[in-house]
Amino acid sequence: MASELSKIWLSKPHMGGNEQYFIQKAFDSNWIAPVGDNIRNFEAFIELYLMHEVHATVLSSGTAALHLAMIMAGVGPGDTVLVQSLTFSASANPVKYLGAHPIFIDSETRSWNLDPDRIDEAVALSKARYGKTPKAIVPVHLYGMPAEMDAINERAKHHGMVVIEDAAEAFGSTYHRRDCGTLGDFGVLSFNGNKIITTSSGGALLCKDSAMADRAKYLATQARMPANHYEHEEVGYNYRMSNVLAGIGIGQMEVLAIRVEDRNINHHRYKQIFGGLRERGYHVQFQPESPGSRSNRWLTTILVDPEQNRGLTVAEINREMERRQIECRPLWKPMHMQPVFQDAERVGGAVSEQLFAQGLCLPSSSNLTEAEWERITKALEDIFSSDRP
Ligand SMILES: *Cc1c(COP(=O)(O)O)cnc(C)c1O
Repeated sequence: MASELSKIWLSKPHMGGNEQYFIQKAFDSNWIAPVGDNIRNFEAFIELYLMHEVHATVLSSGTAALHLAMIMAGVGPGDTVLVQSLTFSASANPVKYLGAHPIFIDSETRSWNLDPDRIDEAVALSKARYGKTPKAIVPVHLYGMPAEMDAINERAKHHGMVVIEDAAEAFGSTYHRRDCGTLGDFGVLSFNGNKIITTSSGGALLCKDSAMADRAKYLATQARMPANHYEHEEVGYNYRMSNVLAGIGIGQMEVLAIRVEDRNINHHRYKQIFGGLRERGYHVQFQPESPGSRSNRWLTTILVDPEQNRGLTVAEINREMERRQIECRPLWKPMHMQPVFQDAERVGGAVSEQLFAQGLCLPSSSNLTEAEWERITKALEDIFSSDRP
């Protein structure tokens, strides 16, 4: 029976080997708390990897990091925030937590990320509809592919908007030799179970100066003033990472650079597989990497236009892969198409809608075995078959 086969996941955790040593250190010191050496050391490792361009605060999730970044950007009730439409809902939800309005921006076709040429239009829309300039803008590096940050930063500066760089999928990616996460006013990382490195759940907020990072740490620990009786002048949050999970993070930092290489090797393998299918009359496209960008290739994604692929659709590929216990997934459904954001304003939408209609994420774990690669290759060769009418 086919169900005897173990499932091949889209992106699964891949431990480096030393994680349990650092977890044990938390137990040995009894710092089973959102305080301790592992937290400080995990932050120091992140800062070192990012060449001390930023100050890191590790948190309970990437979503928490986005929420704190928006608070520090001054987003409040009735404000507006520009958000890339083609993304995971966590990029946009914190706008709603704050009683503000997201305005969604379509993608360009060069990296599939926020189209910088649409920013002026979105700002004009914000002024016309809500009577104010947006407080912040949230570009996303989709599947690890860097957005056009120079142009985005330039337009954001022109309009006085804070840039919150959602690098949740892009730890290890670079843009003109600078690390994703260090390119905006704030950077956000995620260590959720499916990301390139994981602490099971967790995230980090990256700030440009230590005063900002101190404020992030303060807000993330219930906005507790340094007084013995717990003085509070502001509303706080319980968003700090556990010292136990930070131990996993240290072990994962040791292997991040290798994971980036592994995922890029995955990408090359898929290029070879689909290159071989060209002689059968199939032409899939990959997410383009522009000169100066280097994606961590967190997920390898393809576009399948039925007209260039003998009528084959992504729905059919997805179904056939699922039948073989191989997990694939469509691209993120654009936020402007989501029922929860149906009242939100947007500029454009046709590009992200087309990407959603024809895009598919392929299994991209860094610990795929040769046997799993054989199953994936065989499945794709069956589905993109030579005797399709
Ligand atoms: C995973 C992800 C997040 C949220 O991170 P969590 O740690 O799961 O809260 C935010 N934005 C994008 C684009 C993501 O992929």
